[in-house]
Amino acid sequence: MKIVLASRNKHKIEEWNATLGKFVDGVEILSLDDIGFEGEIEENGETFEENAFLKASAAAKLGYFSIGEDSGLAVTALGGAPGIYSARYAGEHGNDAANNELLLRNLSDKDDRSASFVCTIALIDPAEPERGKFFRGETEGVILHEARGKGGFGYDPLFFYEPMGLSFSEMSAEQKNSISHRGKAIEQLAEYLKQLQ
Ligand code: IMP
Repeated sequence: MKIVLASRNKHKIEEWNATLGKFVDGVEILSLDDIGFEGEIEENGETFEENAFLKASAAAKLGYFSIGEDSGLAVTALGGAPGIYSARYAGEHGNDAANNELLLRNLSDKDDRSASFVCTIALIDPAEPERGKFFRGETEGVILHEARGKGGFGYDPLFFYEPMGLSFSEMSAEQKNSISHRGKAIEQLAEYLKQLQ
């Protein structure tokens, strides 16, 4: 079964291939580049679910079984920000260094540094393009005062996962996938896909 993941983010595609492939046999994840999709997808929803659905819809319209994933960081002391704006918190889309810097600045006078990563997945069957099936994973942690580790992407160097005593950047891919918001949401999706097969 071929499923298009509506993303061009190489890190995400790698995490997906490492996780979903482990749970379900015979599923191949294709990226937007793999199907020659060149358009831009408007992410103008107001929730993770809406954005995940918008992304999946774009590929479903081309006739593919499609997955849209929207994820982000919700920081308690910032009222859930950056949330759906995580990728463009400091303005420019995907500028991880600027996003991390702004996050540290906005938390500098806060005692509560708790946060959670959220991942929402929308799965769309092209036969029913107006309906999505949703899966959600969350992982709690605390925001460090400075970056730790070299791996991962986005806010990984600042996100400390207490049960392992490591930041997400300090974890191996396997460690991160086993406890991450994305790993949890993908596991639920995998259970669903197994039933379809
Ligand atoms: P999306 O591509 O619109 O879902 O943007 C998600 C954004 O949230 C990313 O660009 C990162 O800034 C952040 N994010 C989501 N998941 C992770 C993660 O696993 N590690 C670090 N940052 C993440």
